[in-house]
Amino acid sequence: MRTQIICVASLLLFGLFSGRASADQSAKHDTDVVCIDPGHPSEVNSGYTVQNGLTETHIDWLVALRLRQLLTRDGIKVVMTRSQERRLVTNRKRAEIANQAHAKLLIRLHCDASPGSGYALYYPDRKGKAQGVAGPSDRVILESKQAAELLHVGVSSSLQSKLKDCGIKGDSSTLIGSRQGALTGSIFSSVPVVTIEMVVLSNKSDARFIGARAGQEAMAEALAKGVHEFLDKRNLEPDR
Ligand SMILES: [Zn+2]
Repeated sequence: MRTQIICVASLLLFGLFSGRASADQSAKHDTDVVCIDPGHPSEVNSGYTVQNGLTETHIDWLVALRLRQLLTRDGIKVVMTRSQERRLVTNRKRAEIANQAHAKLLIRLHCDASPGSGYALYYPDRKGKAQGVAGPSDRVILESKQAAELLHVGVSSSLQSKLKDCGIKGDSSTLIGSRQGALTGSIFSSVPVVTIEMVVLSNKSDARFIGARAGQEAMAEALAKGVHEFLDKRNLEPDR
């Protein structure tokens, strides 16, 4: 009897504290808006090329939906740059959606096609120019670098032993970035922006990983962990 009372009491206490913990988690993110940008179709590339049985547009969309679910569960407000899998949105518009939402972070999901394998994170490492506009600002360049580093902490600890870590790179090392100085979505962004090439879709083993439900789940969880690393650190800093 006594044991039962203790058990009931500890269950109640556990319920109380775990309930409070999740309420705190939501309250902590009261003002946090994250913009998820599932890559393609855009003015440059439809993302409909089939590689190892998969299209980039579809994979970006599936991971984005799951990431949205995970972040929303934690009380973070999520804005998406497109509302349907096959809706064409220009890269400039994608950045403008994040700007209008005053997002703390614009996270852009893509898959690479190259002879390599694994994931890599990109941030604008210098100003670029597109459609007669130069950008992003020095502040966005600095904050995007910090965001890429913090996202990488979460993503790499989660995906260890699952995918090859190709680290953090500058937009200027991409094909479009080498021509323009930065990716178009970065040039027009007034909020910290990070692009992740989640896998190399042309690589058989990467495609097998991300084509499976478990792989999509692991990727979304890794990204959510990275977003938390970023928001937790950023929310500790004085208003900026
Ligand atoms: Zn892409």
